[in-house]
Amino acid sequence: MPVEHEELKNLQVFLHPLIKDKLTRARDTGTPPAQFRRLLNEIAGLMTYDVCRELRTESRTVTTPIQATEGSVLGEPITLVPILRAGIGMTEGILSLLPEARVGHIGLYRDEETLDPVEYYAKLPPDVADGVVLLIDPMLATGGSASAALDLLKRRRCSRIRMICLVAAPEGVQRLLEDHPDITIYTASLDERLNEQGYIVPGLGDAGDRLFGTL
Ligand code: URA
Repeated sequence: MPVEHEELKNLQVFLHPLIKDKLTRARDTGTPPAQFRRLLNEIAGLMTYDVCRELRTESRTVTTPIQATEGSVLGEPITLVPILRAGIGMTEGILSLLPEARVGHIGLYRDEETLDPVEYYAKLPPDVADGVVLLIDPMLATGGSASAALDLLKRRRCSRIRMICLVAAPEGVQRLLEDHPDITIYTASLDERLNEQGYIVPGLGDAGDRLFGTL
């Protein structure tokens, strides 16, 4: 199970040895894109198990080869929302555990002058507000994109949102604590800081470039 950070009350950090092992391999600059993609999806799958701990269930009667019995199944729609493009790199791993989840996408770019995130793409299920939304971005750096994506989801009336990232910077977590204190962030690591270029230190570099081989 992840543990709540002592000061950043919106943050749950995973300490599981499997997650730490895979994250350490993913950070390694020598890890090629195919392996990097596999590791990110595996970590995302492992995190999903706990992120889904409080999902609503409904009872269901099933008939086994022996007799009818009462069980329970997930009782609400789940929508995965990767922020383009790096968010795509964790989505398959989450879908491997939640194969019936819908997948929406949000695309944001940073305006060169204002440095503010600008939405260029948003495709979400019309009833996205009806269930749980898992917002996915491997790198929570300044928090600008995540905050804008959360604004958009809330404009679409989503109220049950969790954010899944791989590596978070304290600056980004603090920004979300201020902008969206109701949102829990799950991360495999809380790193030290952002550098002058906005990269997470020690981080893993540009996640999108490493996923898609565009370095
Ligand atoms: N985005 C990345 O891909 N990496 C960082 O370190 C920060 C933002």
